Parts: sequence; C-alpha cells; structure tokens
Amino acid sequence: MKILFTSLLLVLSQLGMSIDCSFGKSDEFDQSCSYYNNDPFKKPQYKTPLALPDSWPINILRNPMDRSPETSKTRVVTLGTGMPSPNPYRSGPSHALVVDGFPYLIDAGEGIWRSISKAVLINGDKLSQAFSPRKLNVLFVTHLHQDHTIGLPSLVLNPLNWIYGIRQDIFGPVGTKDMLKYINLAWLVDTDAAISDGFDPEDSRATAYDIDFEKDGIVYEDERVKVEAFRTRHASLENTFAYRFTTSDRIVVFTGDGGPYNDNIVRASRNADILVTETVTEDNIKHAPWGGESIEDKKSTIFQFHFTPKILARIAKEAKVKTIVLSHEQNYNQDQDYDALGLVNEVKSAGFEGEIFSAMDGDIY
Ligand SMILES: [Zn+2]
Ligand SMILES: [Zn+2]
Repeated sequence: MKILFTSLLLVLSQLGMSIDCSFGKSDEFDQSCSYYNNDPFKKPQYKTPLALPDSWPINILRNPMDRSPETSKTRVVTLGTGMPSPNPYRSGPSHALVVDGFPYLIDAGEGIWRSISKAVLINGDKLSQAFSPRKLNVLFVTHLHQDHTIGLPSLVLNPLNWIYGIRQDIFGPVGTKDMLKYINLAWLVDTDAAISDGFDPEDSRATAYDIDFEKDGIVYEDERVKVEAFRTRHASLENTFAYRFTTSDRIVVFTGDGGPYNDNIVRASRNADILVTETVTEDNIKHAPWGGESIEDKKSTIFQFHFTPKILARIAKEAKVKTIVLSHEQNYNQDQDYDALGLVNEVKSAGFEGEIFSAMDGDIY
C-alpha cells in the first residue's frame, strides 16, 4: 500500500502537481497526507488510555501548519495540544505567544522543551530566534493542575545541563511560589552536585510570583504586551485564570481549562482575535474513560472541569471572538468513525460562526 502511495506522489510531482495536505477534512481520508504516513502502525485491538484513537497516526490527517497572517507581529504557537492521557504526537498543554520576535509561554505541560524544539524544527527560522532558550524568560500558568505544570521542573532544571545564563519569571495562581520552592528542594542533590562541579546558581535563576488579587487586572506589562488575568471556574480549584494578551495588533486569550459558563470568561474573551481554548465532546461523551459509569455521571463530572461545545460557542458568540483555536481537546470519537474535526463541528453546530481550528503541536496562528 505504501509503495502505491509513494508511486502516486512521485507521478504527481513529476507532472508538477502536488497534493494539498494542509487540512484534514472530516469527510476525506487521504493516507498520503498523514503526518506520520501511518508506517509503522499497528492498530491496537486492546483498548487502554495509552491507545486512544486520537493517538493513532492513521487519524492524523495533516501536517502542522502556519495559519498566521503574513504581516502579523503577534503569533500563537501551539506547542503542546495534548491531554493528560499520553499521546506520542501531542505534548502536554503548553502554548506560546510570540510578539515582535519575543516569546511568552502559557502553561508548562509534559514534554515542554521537546515541544518547543519540535515547533522550531517544523517552522525553521520563523521560530528559531524567537525560541532561543535565553529568550524564554516568561511563563504564565493558568492553574496548578498537574497536566499544566508537570513540565515546570523540566523548564527550570533541564537547561542547567546544556545552557547557563537563563532567567525565568513564572506567574501563576497562589501556590506557584511554593511549587517552585519544592521543585528546587526535590532536585537539591543534583543542583548541589552541579554547584560543586562549578555551576553558579546566580547565573541561571527562576523566580515565581503568586497572582493574588480579588479583582481581575493587569499582572504583567512590558513594551510588547499587556497581560490581564481573569479568575474563571474550573471544578473545585479556587484560583484558575484566563490570560488576555493585548499587543500592538492583536488580542489573544488563553482560557486554560474551562468549566461551567461564567461571565468572567466572556469578559476575558471580549473581542479577542484568537481564543485558545478547550472543549470536550458531548456527542461522544459515552466513550470518555473518566467521569463515572453512566452518561449522566460523566456529563455532571466532566463539565465541571471543561467546556461543552455549546457553552464554548455561547461564550465565543457573546464575546464576539473572531477565531477559536482548539487545543487540549477531548475528542472521544471511536475506531472507524473517528473524526479529527469532531469538536470543530460540534462547536459550529452549536452556533459559532467565526473561524475555528483544531490545533496540533507545532501549528502557528
Ligand atoms: Zn485543569
Ligand atoms: Zn487540563
């Protein structure tokens, strides 16, 4: 089969024709466009959370791509679009906003350095300077769930083995300072040894700041961006933030994880050019491997933690959002019915009429 497709591509390229692999279309399946070309791939019959259809290469229908306007000074890079369940093609939740060639990170999921490296290798010089490690100085954490923070030890400690002179400022909800303190304590044996071997701890340093305020407001400002934090609802977490970035040419909002409808998420998202957000399928919720046994149990549990497509569409419509970029998706389509754009279609069916994309690691918007 592979030989057949390779020959087809060869014939087309000799004829000066190329296949448009830029979009995965839900009604179309073109194996030659798959990111990993499905080889080697053995579809598992025994289902576990390690082998959900979202992880099957046969279901990855396009290559990562740059959808940002050519003249824009502000670009979203979806570094890690995955969920907590491991997916070899999606790192844990992590994004970057690149403004005038300077990067701001949002969340630090599993595999953060690898996802940054992957984005650079996919996009070449569009990102290689912006993601120069010494420029990766600022991180905003939306909330302290482990899937959004488990990359923190790696972000802070990994560079000490291959680059010195890196300064990092980490902003997050109350508890972020403690998290960094305990990370440093947990790896004390390593850093003590490094100091004995000549490492100067003053040379590379991470500093954490707890965002502790009653009202929403500005948490960071420099010559390129104004960043406002809005307290939102996400299950039982008391402190969880959406971050609204205002730059010279765009408004970009990162909601972090969702939950029940709330006014603040609408205020945070007001007139956003891009809303980077998440949602969980309602149509296929019965296949979710968590949240209870019955469909009703799953709905009442899962939608305390995440947006339904209907609530997301309502928020985006009320806030007059232009473009939604879906990441951290929980698309529980199954087997032969798998639809990579299932959640895009659910949000559209719920009445959102703007642009909406299902992101993959290494995309630019
Ligand atoms: Zn969460
Ligand atoms: Zn999450």
